[in-house]
Amino acid sequence: MPPSDFMDEPPAVEGASRPIAVFANSYARLPGHFFARLDPTPAPKPRLIAFNESLASELGVDARGLEPDALAAMFAGNVVPPGAEPIAMAYAGHQFGNFVPQLGDGRAILLGEVLDRNGARRDVQLKGAGKTPFSRRGDGRAALGPVLREYCVSEAMHALGIPTTRALAAVSTGEPVYRDRQLPGAVLTRVASSHIRVGTFQYFAARGDLEAVERLAGYVVDRHFPEARDAERPRLALLQAVADRQARLIARWMQVGFIHGVMNTDNTALSGETIDFGPCAFMDSYDPATAFSAIDEYGRYAYGNQPIVAQWNLARFAETLLPLLDPDPKRAVELANEAISAFMARYQAHWLAGMREKLGLSGEEDGDLDLVRDLLQALHESAADFTLTFRRLCAAAADDTADAEARGGFANPGAYDGWAVRWRARLAVGGRDPGARAEAMRAVNPAFIPRNHRVEQALDAAIDRGDFSPFADLMTVLSRPYEDQPAFAAYADPPRTEERVLRTFCGT
Ligand code: AMP
Ligand code: MG
Repeated sequence: MPPSDFMDEPPAVEGASRPIAVFANSYARLPGHFFARLDPTPAPKPRLIAFNESLASELGVDARGLEPDALAAMFAGNVVPPGAEPIAMAYAGHQFGNFVPQLGDGRAILLGEVLDRNGARRDVQLKGAGKTPFSRRGDGRAALGPVLREYCVSEAMHALGIPTTRALAAVSTGEPVYRDRQLPGAVLTRVASSHIRVGTFQYFAARGDLEAVERLAGYVVDRHFPEARDAERPRLALLQAVADRQARLIARWMQVGFIHGVMNTDNTALSGETIDFGPCAFMDSYDPATAFSAIDEYGRYAYGNQPIVAQWNLARFAETLLPLLDPDPKRAVELANEAISAFMARYQAHWLAGMREKLGLSGEEDGDLDLVRDLLQALHESAADFTLTFRRLCAAAADDTADAEARGGFANPGAYDGWAVRWRARLAVGGRDPGARAEAMRAVNPAFIPRNHRVEQALDAAIDRGDFSPFADLMTVLSRPYEDQPAFAAYADPPRTEERVLRTFCGT
């Protein structure tokens, strides 16, 4: 194994201003062609819109005594905090199946890494902080809408217990950006376990730079999968570990009706975190063909395709590792194929385990898969709301007088009745206390998800009227998704016909 890249960290630099966090940068120690060094482009009039205090404290970010303007200046990139070493990372990627050999951080700048309260290394990145050598024709900026959307949905995912990048701050820049119309500009401070993507490996593999691929693999193992270091075949163990994290992640997405929308290989983080909340959306009524993204013309990234797309992305990752898997190219391909095939079985196991929890089933019985599938089939035929149905099942599991509510969501309530008879028979196996079972179900079936119409309403109020209170309310509701919050009951409702959002835009 190459020497660890974490050994030769510089001490935190004490600058003129008090250090807000202790940086411990490691990616910036990698070879120079892994990134470009540059400072963020200052914004004319930064204003703090949101600051995530609980995340800040988790990161050991010390904002005490700092005025909102000082925070805004820092999170806009106008003031680079001591110890930060800003870089734009190089990466490539398959976008909708087509390979682009150079993408890279075109509007994101990694300030550096901090060690959080648990000793975990976290990237702190400014998204929308100006042009970089990877900007191509882009302006390096972000609009307020997509920044708020990412802030809201990534934090909602976190509250749902799903691995995800986080949002530390949002600032407006005081400078317009030009998309299909003029919009207010903004910067999001994103926190991630790392920003290394499948596309980062592809960048070097496509250039035939095997040394860089090996260096990056060693770095990723040290940072994310130290247990793979001692495996018989460390690079195969890396591939398997990445595949397992993707299997877990996609299973979690499927269980809450999350549709990523742009599952390109450059948006697939090796850490197994959800990354890049462009045109993402949550499904209301259940239909595997649901796709919201305006740029996803053929539904490549539709809800039901996500597992197979993840597998496809992993195959692209495996290709970059082939020369490291075995000196015999045929054997390397065999090993890669085995790992990629194993992904689907692992995904299905994670998915089924999660669906059993959602339905309150204890233990494992032969008919479980059919029971789950038949419910989903009935939901699909009835265009019933995914989230609401499962939440209502929590009450019905404890008490069959709650069936009326659950069946009421089905266009054909009889489909529910037939299914519920089988479900109750299955619930009787294992003899769990009904109250405890309902409680456990409520902990995995959210009452509140970031419903598209609510997100759009909050964003419209902020953009069109400068009114951030709907956004603040939404953030409050979504911070406790598994608790009934009677004051916010309406946020659990599906959209009325006229509120339905049919398209989402990545807005880059
Ligand atoms: P995304 O759609 O956010 O995954 O971005 C895909 C690629 O386009 C990445 O290389 C981004 O850095 C780049 N990109 C997106 N928006 C911009 C922008 N406004 N300016 C420069 N590059 C951008
Ligand atoms: Mg991206």
